[in-house]
Formats: sequence, C-alpha cells, structure tokens
Amino acid sequence: MGLNDINSRVRAAEIAAGRETGSVTLIAVSKVQPAERVTAVLDQGHQVFGENYVQEAQGKWPEWRQRYPDVSVHMIGPLQSNKARTAVELFDAIHSLDRISLARKLARHIDELGVSPQLFIQVNTGDEPQKAGILADELPGFIKSCQELGLRPHGLMCIPPESEDSTPHFRLLRRLAQENDLPGLSMGMSADFESAIAEGATHIRVGSAIFGARNYG
Ligand SMILES: *Cc1c(COP(=O)(O)O)cnc(C)c1O
Repeated sequence: MGLNDINSRVRAAEIAAGRETGSVTLIAVSKVQPAERVTAVLDQGHQVFGENYVQEAQGKWPEWRQRYPDVSVHMIGPLQSNKARTAVELFDAIHSLDRISLARKLARHIDELGVSPQLFIQVNTGDEPQKAGILADELPGFIKSCQELGLRPHGLMCIPPESEDSTPHFRLLRRLAQENDLPGLSMGMSADFESAIAEGATHIRVGSAIFGARNYG
C-alpha cells in the first residue's frame, strides 16, 4: 500500500513484461479521498492524478495546481454533456469519451478554448447493457466520426466486468487499439494493474492501493 509500494510494483511489472522502464503512466485516482491523503502524495512528488466527478475536481484542483504547477489531472469518470466545457477547461486528459453527442460537445469546446486534452475512447469490452462505452463492433465507425469532428483520440479505455477475469478484456482492448492505430491503452486498477501492464497498458488508474479505501459516507 502507498505510492512507493505501487511505484515499485509498476517498475517490476514493466521489467517482467519486457517493457521499458517508465513506459507506464500511473494515474493516482484521488476521487473522494480526504485532502490530506492527496497532498501527502503530491508532496512525495507524484504528478498524475485521476478524478471521476467534475464538480469535485473543480473544488480542489485549481488551488492545488497553483501549489503544484507540474501536475496533470485526468478525467476518468462518466462525463455529462452539460459538464463538457468545464471538463475541457479543467482536465489534461479525458478517458471517458463514450458517445457521439459528447464527442460533438468536446470538439466544440476544445476548438473554442484552444486546448488539446488527450482523449481516450471508453470501450464496453464486456458488452454490458448498463455500462457506458462504445461496443467493439462500433469502434471503427466511432473513431471515424471523431476524426470528422476534428478530434484525434489518443487511445482506448476499459473497465472490465467486475465478476470476470480482466485479462481477456485487456487483450481485446489492446487488439482494438492496434487495429485502429491508437497508441494509448488506459486499463488496470488497484486489483489488476499488473496484468494490465503485462497486456500493454500505457496508463493504469490506481486509487485505493495508493490512498487507502474510499469512504463515501
Ligand atoms: C475509481 C476508479 C478507479 C480506481 O479504482 P481502485 O480500485 O481504487 O484502484 C479506476 N478507474 C475508474 C474508471 C474508476 O472509477
């Protein structure tokens, strides 16, 4: 547990997979965590964080960015269309591009604000009806629509079904990224980031293993 431990495990998993040291970006998922846990990790020098809720992120990151100017903050949670503009203002990357209406909004705000957040398309690898994300079959068409809107997606993101082994989902995501020429792979959380690294993850999203359990109280 803790940042140092997770960093060591990430380095070991990179070596085990024959991958270059530092090729995996550790996103420390700070949603819902008390401020002192997050500032402790900021003080340790970690610079990449993930948030799920626009409003929560808006309440804390503008101030922390002043104190820690080199941080980047990634949006990893579902994004409502009416929060798209704020998200484009706040975040360096968005991992939850999951529908065409959101792509249209993002394209407009990115253009107006003159910024270029890194974009990941969320793929519903388990074909789960209740889960957000583009279905594997629909991905090539979705990417084409994004490109027509002027967006340049950097990669793919998935959240495997909770009750299943993640590895087949990670493999599917990697194959889809290769087929569609996308370099980024956002996959793996506290419980399975090492297997995600073995399957080619470029970005892992780890919360509770760094900060401790979340208390939604
Ligand atoms: C909360 C969350 C995480 C981090 O989960 P942990 O199990 O605490 O590591 C990763 N990805 C997404 C999309 C999340 O919502």
